[in-house]
Amino acid sequence: MIIIKKYILKETSKEEYKVLSREEKVCPICKSKLTPIGSRIRITYLISGKRVSVRIRRLRCTNKKCYKIHHELPDMLVPFKRYELSAIYSIISGKENQVGCDEKTIREVHRWWKGISNYGQTIKTIKDFKEFIHDLYLLFL
Ligand SMILES: [Zn+2]
Repeated sequence: MIIIKKYILKETSKEEYKVLSREEKVCPICKSKLTPIGSRIRITYLISGKRVSVRIRRLRCTNKKCYKIHHELPDMLVPFKRYELSAIYSIISGKENQVGCDEKTIREVHRWWKGISNYGQTIKTIKDFKEFIHDLYLLFL
């Protein structure tokens, strides 16, 4: 997975969006060029609770020795989380009432956050949170 910051979300049909990347990415493992090989749908819940489909690109590393596939995730999303980043941020900063989700999701997000928030980081804004998620993800490549 690769997190991208520069992109346009284009609505391709009702409740379906396509991510148009504005970044030239290289393989995070070997730094070789990546080439698109298709796409897949990622179901996402917006902060309102609305369920949408986001079509993300699958890219393959052109280095035959590496040849890894990476998914290109827009930074409005959080790896392995269903809700968009702003919803997750609202929950962890105590503004659960702004998010259209159930109690179970809120509990799960708090539990997840408790497990990863002990890296000594200071999160004061959504921008800090975005950077934290981005850096955290790089640890698991
Ligand atoms: Zn590679």
